[in-house]
Amino acid sequence: MKSIREIHDAFDAGSLSPIELTQSTLLAARTRGLGAYITLCEEKAVMQAKTAQVLLEREGKVPRGRMPLLGIPLGIKDNIVVEGMRTTCGSKILENYISPYTATSVERLEAAGAVILGKTNLDEFGMGSSNENSAYGPVTHPSHPDRVPGGSSGGSAAAVAAGLCWAALGTDTGGSIRLPASYCGVVGLKPTYGRVSRFGQVAYASSLDQIGPITRSVEDAALLLDVMSGQDPLDSTSSPQGHSQVFRAVHAGHDSVDWSKLRIGVPEEYWMGGVDPDVEAAIQGALEWLRSQGSQIVSVSLPHTKYAASVYYVIAVSEASSNLARMDGVRFGARPLEAVQANTLDEFYLKARSLFGPEVKRRILLGTFALSSGYSEAYYRRACQVRRKIQEDFNHAFLQADILLGPVSPTTAFKRGEKTKDPLQMYLNDIFTVPASLAGIPAMSLPCGLDSKGLPIGLQWMAPSFCEERLISVGQSYFVSQVGGKSRGR
Ligand code: GLN
Repeated sequence: MKSIREIHDAFDAGSLSPIELTQSTLLAARTRGLGAYITLCEEKAVMQAKTAQVLLEREGKVPRGRMPLLGIPLGIKDNIVVEGMRTTCGSKILENYISPYTATSVERLEAAGAVILGKTNLDEFGMGSSNENSAYGPVTHPSHPDRVPGGSSGGSAAAVAAGLCWAALGTDTGGSIRLPASYCGVVGLKPTYGRVSRFGQVAYASSLDQIGPITRSVEDAALLLDVMSGQDPLDSTSSPQGHSQVFRAVHAGHDSVDWSKLRIGVPEEYWMGGVDPDVEAAIQGALEWLRSQGSQIVSVSLPHTKYAASVYYVIAVSEASSNLARMDGVRFGARPLEAVQANTLDEFYLKARSLFGPEVKRRILLGTFALSSGYSEAYYRRACQVRRKIQEDFNHAFLQADILLGPVSPTTAFKRGEKTKDPLQMYLNDIFTVPASLAGIPAMSLPCGLDSKGLPIGLQWMAPSFCEERLISVGQSYFVSQVGGKSRGR
């Protein structure tokens, strides 16, 4: 157990009830913990489970068409707001912030019958790759306690892998869904930019942020995506082509993919060395499998990949410095006593904004610098120009290939503390995830076996904008071939 389908089968058979499932999952979250949750909302969860149970009893079985998530306990990354719940963003500055409204994505999940267990841990404001930057402590890797779960949606990925919820929401600005999914051995989908409404997600870098599912199977990711996606009048960047109906395609199964017509592109630049041999072998294995299905493997080039991390870290910090300006103790954010007692406005801001952690401060400084007069042309504008080149690289590659395949990360989960002293090392870890974010295309991390230390390896699949159906159908066939249709997690 348990994919959502398996849970619903058990509900239908009467061998499990929504209340039992919610209570046992809450118990696991409370006792095993892993630091995966910042806030558990037990009362609300039990109430939602009771409602699900009443509905189930009335209908006799799960109304899968109308309520595809009935009674499924979910975790929500703590930078996505839910009415009446605390949203900290992993930061002291929002320690006591209670949201007066719910994000569109969560509202849609709730309307589909989901049970919201609580808010999952993250790197402060989504800034990090290891979940070591949370003001509420690090998240422990579910199978290797000395390792990081990946970040910034580390709480969501660890919770899904350990059965502390049955699916979760993450946000991905430069890899934060794919990287922790890969390190924890679960499925992580970053949808096309504009596919899922960002209304109610606390912005990190608005031109890159996307909400997406972290799940135990590809099928579950498709289900959550279909429920959440679609244009939202409250988010002007959500697309009119946003609504997806991918789940149906996944159900059509292996036969829905014409393997002999499928061209799989392998970006040359992703093989330039520095990739762990076990990760490399896993990719070779996947390519072999695709070849055996009749697909054509083609080599493609994404020549501007070498600039991707630099471009990303200029654009992301610039947007972040602007987005986080509202956390000033006046509009948003705590107003500590020292700030209240300040003699000048400058002193007030200084005291209020010292609640940010060191990584957030570093990025605000860098972003403010990159946008400052005299430098914005050299840094921010330049980065935007190179971003366009990176997008063009993908457009060109997708003329030669239908899907691209590569690693999520150069290595599997690294040791706690291994990269905290050297931010550049940490940033470079995102080298394979940031290009898809800059291009706005959908990308998915799929589990693909274990390395020699027993750590999960993730494969990254990328498709053109709004081609999630292709991405997910191929991913599902591969996933089923790997795990025999069984859901992941331990
Ligand atoms: N690791 C990247 C960063 O720190 C990506 C984070 C994210 O996707 N939210 O910015």
